[in-house]
Amino acid sequence: MGVKFTLMGTTAGLGVPAFHCNCIACREARADPFWARTRSGAVLETGKENILIDASPDLSKQLLRERIQSVDYLFVTHWHYDHFGGIGDLEYYVKLERKWPVALFLPPSAVDDFAKVYPFLEEVFVIEPWEFGKSYAFEGIELTVLPARHSIETGGILLAGSKRAAYFTDTAGLPAPTARQLQGVDTLICDATFNGANWFPHSHMNWQEAIALGESIRAQHTVLTHLAMHYSTPITAAQLQEKLKDYAQVSLAYDGMVLTI
Ligand SMILES: [Zn+2]
Ligand SMILES: [Zn+2]
Ligand SMILES: [Zn+2]
Repeated sequence: MGVKFTLMGTTAGLGVPAFHCNCIACREARADPFWARTRSGAVLETGKENILIDASPDLSKQLLRERIQSVDYLFVTHWHYDHFGGIGDLEYYVKLERKWPVALFLPPSAVDDFAKVYPFLEEVFVIEPWEFGKSYAFEGIELTVLPARHSIETGGILLAGSKRAAYFTDTAGLPAPTARQLQGVDTLICDATFNGANWFPHSHMNWQEAIALGESIRAQHTVLTHLAMHYSTPITAAQLQEKLKDYAQVSLAYDGMVLTI
């Protein structure tokens, strides 16, 4: 049994390929669309309800690709464009099809931003600011929002179903209390934005730092996501997979990757 958890998108701001870019990662993704990456987000399908985590600017395309025809809840981890830019994609689904608002859980500090950016979505969502440490129970799974370490108020999600998994796409290490709560998780899905020099060591990680984080909390399995692939040194998925051969418990996320939790 367990709940189906799908990675809808697995990259940072630009997307892979990026329309303006011809680096080796973008060339690889153009030649083999399996390695194309949309902006980060995930979906839980409990069999009863569908719960989105983040609404990337690629949301509509992601929902089509995963054949998801309904959305019941949306958790936004933080108010960065690559994580909320697709919210408006739900407007006509709610107005024409669902005819009932979707519950939108926002970072408390983003409630005013939401109202400013999306005044036309007032009737589409019922807003509830999420709370750190609070657990939200759904059929077969519980979500707990825990503090990440990022440039603005950011939640990571601890998922507890038949297994425990942690979804932290934007974080530089973890605050100590969060690290304690994540000890021994079955799967850590985490920020591995950079290859090479980490431009934002207080907000993101490179893939070596992500692996070290997984080891430090004794995660059984670490999945690298939010992969820029372009920076600071462009790298192809084939090259990165070659480097990961030395790490038995580490895998590279890809769009459409499914985990059962
Ligand atoms: Zn991000
Ligand atoms: Zn590129
Ligand atoms: Zn961010």
